Amino acid sequence: MALIVQKYGGTSMGTPDRIRNVARRVKRWKEQGNQVVVVVSAMSGETNRLIALAKDVSPHPEPRELDVMISTGEQVTIALLAMALQDLGVDARSYTGAQVRVLTDSTFTKARILSIDEGKMRRDLDDNKVVIVAGFQGVDEAGNITTLGRGGSDTTGVALAAALSADECQIYTDVDGVYTTDPRIVPEARKLDRITFEEMLEMASLGSKVLQIRSVEFAGKYKVKLRVLSSFEEEGKETQGTLITVEEDTQMEDPIISGIAFNRDEAKLTVLGVPDRPGIASQILGPIAEANVDVDMIIQNVGHDGSTDFSFTVNRSEYARTLKILEEKIKPHIGARAIKGDNKICKVSAVGVGMRSHPGVASQMFRTLAEEGINIQMISTSEIKISVVVDEKYLELAVRVLHQAFGLDRTPA
Ligand code: ADP
Ligand code: ASP
Ligand code: MG
Repeated sequence: MALIVQKYGGTSMGTPDRIRNVARRVKRWKEQGNQVVVVVSAMSGETNRLIALAKDVSPHPEPRELDVMISTGEQVTIALLAMALQDLGVDARSYTGAQVRVLTDSTFTKARILSIDEGKMRRDLDDNKVVIVAGFQGVDEAGNITTLGRGGSDTTGVALAAALSADECQIYTDVDGVYTTDPRIVPEARKLDRITFEEMLEMASLGSKVLQIRSVEFAGKYKVKLRVLSSFEEEGKETQGTLITVEEDTQMEDPIISGIAFNRDEAKLTVLGVPDRPGIASQILGPIAEANVDVDMIIQNVGHDGSTDFSFTVNRSEYARTLKILEEKIKPHIGARAIKGDNKICKVSAVGVGMRSHPGVASQMFRTLAEEGINIQMISTSEIKISVVVDEKYLELAVRVLHQAFGLDRTPA
């Protein structure tokens, strides 16, 4: 008998019909002799609706209160799925995050899971019940409700799978696996049968929101067998989705580039004419870090006549705040000439473990973009990825031409 954790996302839980469809799938897995724990998201659009409502009442809501509110979407869907299962004659029990004690730290709206008490779930499973747990939410030591960041139900799923030593964690969504790039942007994108943890981690952190990045980190750390599949496939026609694998399992002839990721949520800031002397980078980035703003790419230009320019990127939601810190705290303090900002940029990245052994990927990427007249504003690389910052208006074009240039639309021989 296998223990399976299944996570169903917002679209999969989006209507009463779809919830009944999820219930039928869960029932099939149960009847095949598996123990099943189900993690669900709120109905699609619900978390956005709740956030908008909160901001309508108060422009800067207290994060603690926001979490009390935005965690409610998942409390609705756990109960609805339990009802649907019970109607099919399946014994099922729903629990909130607090009820199964998904213990987190107290970083409201982006809390981290510290531990999970799996005792109650085990007792229910031994009692032949299906256990349904609300995704995205937890509780801190003091009993406050917390949430895990957008897309956080993936992380709940993987964390439960780790806590229960499940045989597999299945992430059911509205696509049938992880693709070479977002199929909504490039219809020629291909589904990957396998992708390594390392590549998936890069893809997720560079903007492919098919899996929340923390869920991939968690799965890698606790060796959870993780699979992405579609909840829309009919009975008897289900495919295997995409398995996230360790690198040793991959094959020699795997392609050099596995996927193209992109992120629109970026903004660039430049401090012009800063003195070219030791300590400048920390004087600029120190106050930014103190304000809890995450900095992504950083570039310092070659100095001329004792001064230089310094650029970095932040999440677009932090743009205005960062610009203000630069103008008010940093510019007068270090004697910079001017501050410039651009929140109409995006980041496009090529990811692949094959890059380690194949030089020339960067030059092919830059050539491809140049042929389309796309100007590269910033570049950053790691062993398995190359990212460029370009004008937002070129996003779709850049993703499409790179996808083609690296042969990702062709089925590997
Ligand atoms: P859920 O509500 O099930 O959590 P999400 O919307 O969070 O679903 O994630 C699924 C979506 O991720 C897909 O509809 C797709 O548009 C998007 N996506 C982005 N990059 C990729 C990729 N490389 N492969 C597959 N889907 C991707
Ligand atoms: N409902 C939450 C969100 O929309 C969590 C999730 O769907 O994973 O971000
Ligand atoms: Mg998601």
